[in-house]
Amino acid sequence: MKIILEPRAMQGLADEVRSRAGRIAFVPTMGFLHEGHLSLMREGKKRADTLVVSIFVNPTQFGPQEDLDAYPRDFDRDESLMREVGVDVVFYPTDKDMYPKGYQTYLTVEEVTRNLCGKSRPTHFRGVATVVTKLFHIIKPHVALFGSKDFQQLVVIRRMVEDLNMDIEIVGCPIVREPDGLAMSSRNKYLSEDDRKEALAIKEALDRARELYRNGERDARALVEEAHRILDLHPGIRIDYVSLCDAGTLSDIETIRAESVMAIAAFVGKTRLIDNCVFLAPDEEAI
Ligand code: AMP
Repeated sequence: MKIILEPRAMQGLADEVRSRAGRIAFVPTMGFLHEGHLSLMREGKKRADTLVVSIFVNPTQFGPQEDLDAYPRDFDRDESLMREVGVDVVFYPTDKDMYPKGYQTYLTVEEVTRNLCGKSRPTHFRGVATVVTKLFHIIKPHVALFGSKDFQQLVVIRRMVEDLNMDIEIVGCPIVREPDGLAMSSRNKYLSEDDRKEALAIKEALDRARELYRNGERDARALVEEAHRILDLHPGIRIDYVSLCDAGTLSDIETIRAESVMAIAAFVGKTRLIDNCVFLAPDEEAI
């Protein structure tokens, strides 16, 4: 497993792989790896002969009051997990190499970033779109893999790749959960023992909404209200949003007609967690 720190060196390696008709799969991460990240890497290995993983805690996607400095980091542990999975190349740049002095170019994806996390984190997706574009130019992948835990991020990346004619296949992968249902996240490390129990209400709210949907409820407000009711039973939880949106446009909907997503963001103690559940269109949903 090669560890590459500099963008130019990474570009050279990508050129070399491409010159011998090799195929590059890419998994971008912020490190502090867990099974969710590893599932993307395993899928990437199936789809290419060279698997590149980036580890970069991207400062431009954090707001001024957010957890950039506290974000958990453990490169040694990440390194051994990546060796086990069979990662070929780790791209591990510094902030300075990614955003040198004088840096001033950013990318904005407009409509799909307005709702959900875009409301409470107004500069987040500008940072995500910018860094992912930079990483795409540095790593030159044929295929890139993203988790649907960050559902809006996946929609934003798909939109950006299509709008800018980027010749990269985007693969969305399922949410990996702890045995009790909590979606895996590097930020789960922040949770106290009590927080950890409270956090389960997020999955419970999604499951209950899904159950109502499967029983025939199509009124989005009824599902959102039920999710609110469940979360409100937990004093340790402060809701950021509960939304039911069209899965393609991410606009709020009133009635579920096409594929839609219930997305939740909530603070458990000081930790902001997100999770979601996709409802297939009524005629596709297997009952
Ligand atoms: P992060 O390191 O949090 O930026 O995440 C890197 C990638 O891993 C993103 O594409 C995430 O959507 C994905 N990811 C994070 N948590 C999970 C999870 N529990 N299941 C599946 N993918 C995940």
